[in-house]
Amino acid sequence: MECHLDREIDIDRFRCKGCGACAEVCPDAFRMDEDGQKAEIIDSNEAPDEVIQMAVAMCPTQCIELRSVKREGETE
Ligand code: SF4
Repeated sequence: MECHLDREIDIDRFRCKGCGACAEVCPDAFRMDEDGQKAEIIDSNEAPDEVIQMAVAMCPTQCIELRSVKREGETE
Protein backbone atom coordinates (compact mmCIF):
# COMPACT_ATOMS: atom_id res chain seq x y z
CA MET A 1 0.00 0.00 0.00
CA GLU A 2 1.31 3.44 -0.93
CA CYS A 3 1.80 5.82 1.95
CA HIS A 4 3.10 9.37 2.07
CA LEU A 5 2.92 12.49 4.22
CA ASP A 6 1.02 15.61 3.28
CA ARG A 7 1.02 18.90 5.08
CA GLU A 8 -2.12 20.43 6.38
CA ILE A 9 -2.46 23.96 7.67
CA ASP A 10 -5.34 25.25 9.74
CA ILE A 11 -6.01 28.79 10.84
CA ASP A 12 -8.30 29.41 13.79
CA ARG A 13 -10.04 32.41 12.29
CA PHE A 14 -11.66 33.27 15.60
CA ARG A 15 -8.25 33.80 17.21
CA CYS A 16 -6.63 35.43 14.16
CA LYS A 17 -6.30 39.15 14.80
CA GLY A 18 -5.42 40.08 11.24
CA CYS A 19 -1.90 41.34 11.85
CA GLY A 20 -0.73 40.12 8.42
CA ALA A 21 2.55 38.62 9.67
CA CYS A 22 1.92 35.18 8.15
CA ALA A 23 1.09 36.62 4.72
CA GLU A 24 4.17 38.80 4.85
CA VAL A 25 6.53 36.00 5.88
CA CYS A 26 5.01 33.31 3.66
CA PRO A 27 2.93 34.81 0.82
CA ASP A 28 2.92 31.49 -1.06
CA ALA A 29 0.77 29.89 1.62
CA PHE A 30 -1.10 32.74 3.32
CA ARG A 31 -2.96 35.86 2.31
CA MET A 32 -5.39 38.22 3.95
CA ASP A 33 -9.05 37.83 3.13
CA GLU A 34 -11.02 40.38 1.10
CA ASP A 35 -11.66 42.56 4.11
CA GLY A 36 -8.04 42.33 5.24
CA GLN A 37 -9.30 41.22 8.65
CA LYS A 38 -8.33 37.55 8.75
CA ALA A 39 -5.68 35.32 7.21
CA GLU A 40 -6.58 32.54 4.82
CA ILE A 41 -4.65 29.69 3.27
CA ILE A 42 -3.81 29.77 -0.41
CA ASP A 43 -1.90 26.56 -1.04
CA SER A 44 0.24 24.76 1.52
CA ASN A 45 2.14 22.83 -1.15
CA GLU A 46 3.88 25.84 -2.66
CA ALA A 47 5.88 27.02 0.32
CA PRO A 48 8.87 25.29 1.93
CA ASP A 49 8.33 23.80 5.40
CA GLU A 50 10.82 26.19 7.00
CA VAL A 51 8.98 29.26 5.74
CA ILE A 52 5.61 27.97 6.91
CA GLN A 53 7.14 27.16 10.29
CA MET A 54 8.52 30.70 10.45
CA ALA A 55 5.01 32.06 9.84
CA VAL A 56 3.64 29.76 12.55
CA ALA A 57 6.31 31.03 14.96
CA MET A 58 5.60 34.69 14.13
CA CYS A 59 1.84 34.46 14.66
CA PRO A 60 1.14 36.47 17.83
CA THR A 61 -1.94 34.44 18.74
CA GLN A 62 -0.55 30.99 17.81
CA CYS A 63 -3.64 30.34 15.74
CA ILE A 64 -1.86 28.59 12.84
CA GLU A 65 -1.57 24.84 13.13
CA LEU A 66 0.77 22.90 10.84
CA ARG A 67 0.59 19.14 10.84
CA SER A 68 1.62 16.18 8.75
CA VAL A 69 -1.12 13.87 7.57
CA LYS A 70 -0.39 10.30 6.62
CA ARG A 71 -2.28 9.23 3.55
CA GLU A 72 -2.56 5.59 2.73
CA GLY A 73 -3.72 3.89 -0.40
CA GLU A 74 -2.99 6.81 -2.69
CA THR A 75 -0.60 6.68 -5.59
CA GLU A 76 1.26 9.68 -6.89
S1 SF4 B 1 0.03 35.87 11.86
FE1 SF4 B 1 -1.66 34.88 12.98
S2 SF4 B 1 -2.87 36.58 13.78
FE2 SF4 B 1 -1.55 37.43 12.19
S3 SF4 B 1 -2.84 37.37 10.32
FE3 SF4 B 1 -1.63 35.48 10.37
S4 SF4 B 1 -2.95 33.95 11.38
FE4 SF4 B 1 -3.78 36.00 11.83
